[in-house]
Amino acid sequence: MDFLDVPTVLKVSAVFNLMAALAWLMLAQTFRVAPRAARLMAAGHLLRIASQGCGECTAGWPLLLRQAVPAFGLLASVTLLTLALRHMLRSRQRVHDIAWVGGLGALGIAAGLASGSGLAPQLACTAGVALLSLLAVRDLVRGIGGQLSPVVTACMTLPFAALAALSVGHVAALLLLPGWGDHGLDGEPPTPARVVLWFVVTAGITLSLIALLIWRVISRIQHLTYRDPLTGALSRRAFEQALAEAQAQLQRGHGFALVMIDVDHFKRINDEHGHAAGDAALQHCVRLWQAGLRAVDRLGRLGGEEFCALLPLAAPQDLPTAMAVAERLRATLAAQPLHWKGVELPLSASFGVALPATDDPRGESGLARADAELYRAKAEGRNRVCAAPEFHGLAAA
Ligand code: GH3
Ligand code: MG
Ligand code: MG
Repeated sequence: MDFLDVPTVLKVSAVFNLMAALAWLMLAQTFRVAPRAARLMAAGHLLRIASQGCGECTAGWPLLLRQAVPAFGLLASVTLLTLALRHMLRSRQRVHDIAWVGGLGALGIAAGLASGSGLAPQLACTAGVALLSLLAVRDLVRGIGGQLSPVVTACMTLPFAALAALSVGHVAALLLLPGWGDHGLDGEPPTPARVVLWFVVTAGITLSLIALLIWRVISRIQHLTYRDPLTGALSRRAFEQALAEAQAQLQRGHGFALVMIDVDHFKRINDEHGHAAGDAALQHCVRLWQAGLRAVDRLGRLGGEEFCALLPLAAPQDLPTAMAVAERLRATLAAQPLHWKGVELPLSASFGVALPATDDPRGESGLARADAELYRAKAEGRNRVCAAPEFHGLAAA
């Protein structure tokens, strides 16, 4: 590896870490993308530069400093990267475990330095890095495992797994091979292979976190496109897409029902208690209805105080089941008024239920029939469910 002499690789690595730190800082400060995670990443990269050192510039330092800076620097750098990853994944898990591993590792390094041992600080640092990277692997698998394909998950986890494997191997070598610890952390120049491996792993971790950031931004854009920002229900566009997909499935015998919903006398809430109360009422309705629906059901906000639920049915023309679901949603809202600034606001809604037709790729006639039933419910006194019993969706198509 003559072309990969240690000082050159260290310089390349330092430049890479510096540029990565600047890029993360720019993301945090200018674009406000995952600012906390990005700042942690920037600090992690800067500490990585400090920890990797360079033979010539640290040559005049006392031995204790030459041992302390790389050990503390590397442990702190990996601790910050692990914290950044957890923030990036928006994990609800506290950071106690990361703080404990980082803290105990630092204590181990300090105790080793105080005892004058050359081996103990390296052991404490490397064992800490191994544990932190294993925590990162677990966080990644938990955070993206169910949402991205296994191949993508494996690729993004690989750099952290490689860091864990490298560190475990290093701990084993320190314990089993006499003289192994003479390289690296005590000021002796490390071998080219080790420096290159570290560089590749660091670059891999950076790429993995950039991929994670891109995924996060895409998920956010999708959420903004497909969700109504006020209530979290599907947007009209997303609901229409779900309806078109359900219509395609109808040809294969997978039935569904449409439940059109309109909040009763909603304008009065706005007029008497203000627009903010109206907004809170819409959020209250959606919260209650979402809780009463299954994960396979879809609830969309078609506009204003009008919603529509798409209920997949086990039996294609099972109108009674759809009516029972609508009745449950109606009763839930009627029984649970909104509490707004100390005032109890009773709410109710009217429901129209219909089955779809097979020759209707965009589901427009099903929606129109559910809408007609909704208006019948309004005309008959509101706070009720009306259905189209005379219509047999599949047969009439
Ligand atoms: P009905 O029982 O016949 O359905 O009467 P209604 O008052 O519910 O219906 P109407 O169509 O007369 O009024 C709907 C009101 O909903 C009018 C509009 O200002 C209000 N609205 C629409 N979108 C929003 C929103 O996002 N937030 C709030 N607060 N009000 C909204
Ligand atoms: Mg209304
Ligand atoms: Mg309306």
